Amino acid sequence: MNEIKCGNCGQEVIPDEMNNCPECGVNMIEDIEEYERMVNHKSKTLNVLDTADAKDKISDVEVFGNPDAWVLITKASSKKEGWMKSTKAMSTINGVIVLVSTQQGNNIAESTVFIPNAFIGTDENGNRFIQNNI
Ligand SMILES: [Zn+2]
Repeated sequence: MNEIKCGNCGQEVIPDEMNNCPECGVNMIEDIEEYERMVNHKSKTLNVLDTADAKDKISDVEVFGNPDAWVLITKASSKKEGWMKSTKAMSTINGVIVLVSTQQGNNIAESTVFIPNAFIGTDENGNRFIQNNI
């Protein structure tokens, strides 16, 4: 096993056979689990734009229904800094549901709002936007 940072004393150590820190003696099982999550899980692909793009960028992506019913309005991301922000919209019979998402590292925050009588338009540059029906 490689050295892991002890969550208690902050030293880079190799846990003993009981998973305890040789420096401060605290049990390191949570630090070990966090370490294994870090090395085993590939980080999420942050710059996907639609289903075709996802299938291109992520080899084992599986879809059900039409994920592109969520239309991408805006998106910005940085792989280097591990963040992504997006705004998506889905048309309904009498309005639009808007979904905003922010991801920072492993943390994600999402929020939705329904806008009655709105619909998804396209401007002269091909950008999608939310427009009022009235
Ligand atoms: Zn320690």
